[in-house]
Amino acid sequence: MNFDYDLFVIGGGSGGVRAARLTAQDGHKVGLAEQSRMGGTCVIRGCVPKKLMVFASGYAELMQQAKEYGWDVSNGKFDWPHFITHLNAELDRLEQIYRTNLQKAGVTIHDQRAVLMDAHTVELADGTTYTAKHILVAVGGHPILPDIKNADLGVMSDDLFNLPELPKKMLIVGAGYIGCEFAGIFNGLGSEVSMFVRSAQILRGFDEEARGHIGDAMQQRGVRIHTGCAPMKIEKRGDRIWVKGSNGHEEEFDLLVWATGRNPNTGGLGLAELGVELERRGEICVDEYSQTAVPSIYAIGDVTGRVELTPVAIRDGVAFHQTVFQGNKTPVDHALVPTAIFTQPEMGTIGLTEEEACEQEPTLVYATAFRPMQTTFVGGEERMLFKMLVSKKTDKVLGIHIVGPGAGEMIQFIGIALKMGATKADFDRTCAVHPTMAEELVTMTHPVRDLA
Ligand code: NAP
Repeated sequence: MNFDYDLFVIGGGSGGVRAARLTAQDGHKVGLAEQSRMGGTCVIRGCVPKKLMVFASGYAELMQQAKEYGWDVSNGKFDWPHFITHLNAELDRLEQIYRTNLQKAGVTIHDQRAVLMDAHTVELADGTTYTAKHILVAVGGHPILPDIKNADLGVMSDDLFNLPELPKKMLIVGAGYIGCEFAGIFNGLGSEVSMFVRSAQILRGFDEEARGHIGDAMQQRGVRIHTGCAPMKIEKRGDRIWVKGSNGHEEEFDLLVWATGRNPNTGGLGLAELGVELERRGEICVDEYSQTAVPSIYAIGDVTGRVELTPVAIRDGVAFHQTVFQGNKTPVDHALVPTAIFTQPEMGTIGLTEEEACEQEPTLVYATAFRPMQTTFVGGEERMLFKMLVSKKTDKVLGIHIVGPGAGEMIQFIGIALKMGATKADFDRTCAVHPTMAEELVTMTHPVRDLA
């Protein structure tokens, strides 16, 4: 059978774009449909603008420190419209790069929504249909609103990059990556930030000690964290939003932000009708080669609900291309993924948490918390945390968790060592780089806990 395309990709985010480019570069005919802006969540409304906001929010503290180091600086005021205009110009530039790279590779771009008609056919919003030998669904996810009266008085993370002004006083509900990162950003920019966290601690799923360390530091920096508190009642009161929490706490805010999780964008795509299996939240079920129950349809990235991180979606896209177009069956590799959470202080993490490690096998816990040289000099009290979990049986490093400046950069290199199967002895025989914070990684000699 003759198809219009060898591959049709639905979704122009990080994963879809990578798979489309690689396949087109091989000389295959590739089409890609994107209903919004090219670049997807990461580039347009996620990692990239978020990181630029993290940078913006760090300057007040840096200027304070600069004074203590002898510089004659005055803080002045933060100009939100200036920053947002600059931010949007940068996002336009990046979006254009994504578009140009696709075109250079020979991908045909359709700036429309596409849905599936059958195992080999997609229909675009304008009614045109295309057939393809393979279809790759890489449509990502979207933030969700909880089911509570007046929830629509709040905004979601997508909206935070385009606020008309910096909010004076805000409430963030939810304490995953997104809630905690934005709490740090707006606190650093000068907003008064409160968080409602329904459980006992922020950042569920991460190492308990690291979560506590970040939570304490965020509070020290001025974020008001209300744990055991979910919003129960929400009302508009004049210009403000009144919120009452399950612990009885009530307060008015200028802005309410929902950071209560994300769901896959599978609604209305026609997947279930074709026999593609979906999980409870709409995640597409795939095998280790990202293939769905319908052999010609594959899915990668956040829409599969596996590991919701940009670099993982990109690698899923590469493995898909290898498997389907290079005759080299390549399973996705989701083991030992290093990642950073750009809270303030930031965290870099890889592998098992202390709780997971000791559940799995007898574990030695190495940990140290100290005040970094640069901020100790200016009277800073915040401590940096280094933590390493080591198998008692094999000496293999099972997990590393770092909280503090540069943690995201450090964990990238640690990732290489752990992927190579590094042992504690390998770290120990590596010479320290002095004076750095990272030297703690090779100088922790005695375990603080022996979890037999
Ligand atoms: P998340 O990690 O699922 O966190 C959702 C938060 O909202 C949790 O604290 C949860 O509480 C809370 N929550 C959920 N429903 C609620 C309700 N009805 N009332 C009150 N609280 C509620 O979601 P996310 O922060 O939106 O992040 C989504 C994904 O994006 C993550 O999985 C991550 O992979 C990705 N991401 C990554 C980065 C990064 O790599 N730096 C940054 C941003 C996002 P409980 O803990 O009690 O359930």
